[in-house]
Amino acid sequence: METDLLIIGAGAAGLFCAGTARAQGARVVVIDHAARPGEKIRISGGGRCNFTNLATTRERFLSENPRFVASALAGYRPSDFVALVDQAGIGWHEKTLGQLFCDGKATQITEMLIRRMAGAELWLDTTLAGLSRDADGYAARTSRGVIRAKRVVVACGAKSIPKMGATGLAYDLALQFGLRIVETRPGLVPLTFAEQDLALCKPLAGIAVEAEVSHGKTRFRDALLFTHRGLSGPAILQISSFWRPGEEIIVNLAPDADLAGALRDRRGQGGRVAIQTVLGAHLPARLAEAIAADLGLEGARLADQNNAAIDRIAARIQRWQVRPVGSEGYRTAEVTVGGIDTRDLDASTMQARDVPGLYFIGECVDVTGWLGGYNFQWAWASAHAAGLSLAGALR
Ligand SMILES: Cc1cc2nc3c(=O)[nH]c(=O)nc-3n(C[C@H](O)[C@H](O)[C@H](O)COP(=O)(O)OP(=O)(O)OC[C@H]3O[C@@H](n4cnc5c(N)ncnc54)[C@H](O)[C@@H]3O)c2cc1C
Repeated sequence: METDLLIIGAGAAGLFCAGTARAQGARVVVIDHAARPGEKIRISGGGRCNFTNLATTRERFLSENPRFVASALAGYRPSDFVALVDQAGIGWHEKTLGQLFCDGKATQITEMLIRRMAGAELWLDTTLAGLSRDADGYAARTSRGVIRAKRVVVACGAKSIPKMGATGLAYDLALQFGLRIVETRPGLVPLTFAEQDLALCKPLAGIAVEAEVSHGKTRFRDALLFTHRGLSGPAILQISSFWRPGEEIIVNLAPDADLAGALRDRRGQGGRVAIQTVLGAHLPARLAEAIAADLGLEGARLADQNNAAIDRIAARIQRWQVRPVGSEGYRTAEVTVGGIDTRDLDASTMQARDVPGLYFIGECVDVTGWLGGYNFQWAWASAHAAGLSLAGALR
């Protein structure tokens, strides 16, 4: 089998790159070890795929080199992808903060990408046994025979959710061809707590509040969810990409309230009322009760609290300093932070600087978006950059 372009991985980035390269007339083969393409697209955004974010800027991405994303993002914008979605007749809506979701099933996006790459071969259930390079290009030994390709795009994702087909293949290939790897860790992942903090969280599992969570100077305000193992919800997922083991996060469970002021005012009006009742005006009742109990103030009256005690109560709710023991790991992480070192890639083509004809796109690269459609935008934009540059090279 001979082809102009072999793409390893039929996920968001691989499928998109195949379409872009096909549009330039390239012969394209895409291989994937999974039985179906675009499995992460299928489960993304709660089954509705948050396919882009209108507020995409380079500040929405983590990378050792924050400037790396600029060229690819400028070359393919959220409005470009929206135009494709519109052409395909896929209904969509904007949730909060520029996040665009399908009205119907996420699989519509995969179907659109498959139609867009018409003429390309898609080999599913196909594993890669080895990739080598010689003067004529690349030879890929696969479970379905050898594919000779002038160029190879590695688009086989990162480590998140092995059950969905994630492997470390992209990193192995990068290392084989001499590229460096920025240490990886799970991102957009629930955080887990030690026993003493779990005593508060466990009984509250399932309760959600609007919270502000910070780590150093980075802060996110969004929903926070108590779980049996610690904390989750968008605010926690966002901060998890910045957090590293051993570090502390600060949680404000009532970000709109002047809690100390409100407690003092209420006390001034005759504070025979129980503390948890007053807190219940700012927090879900069960959370207010649990915090009062955690502070040893279950049933205690507001009238009996001096200013220092009130400050302590407010701080417990608005400056809850907690040191997670870990995260739920790659088993549930939506993304992998770190990856192929961008110093070894050309920012406008995604080609390995020292290995002509070898490209890395999508999540395997050391580029990680915030929650909210940025990761798919990166997949489209990096795939577009590679797909266009390949086409030029193949003429
Ligand atoms: C639950 C969940 C929800 C998400 N929701 C969103 C969302 O709404 N919006 C958003 O922007 N991002 C979301 N993401 C992140 C997004 O899915 C990824 O950033 C994106 O899929 C990365 O695209 P990719 O093509 O680089 O990798 P992937 O989509 O992971 O594709 C990699 C492909 O390579 C294949 N592969 C892996 N190893 C091998 C191997 N050894 N041999 C052959 N093939 C291999 C895989 O089977 C897969 O098909 C979500 C992620 C998860 C897990």
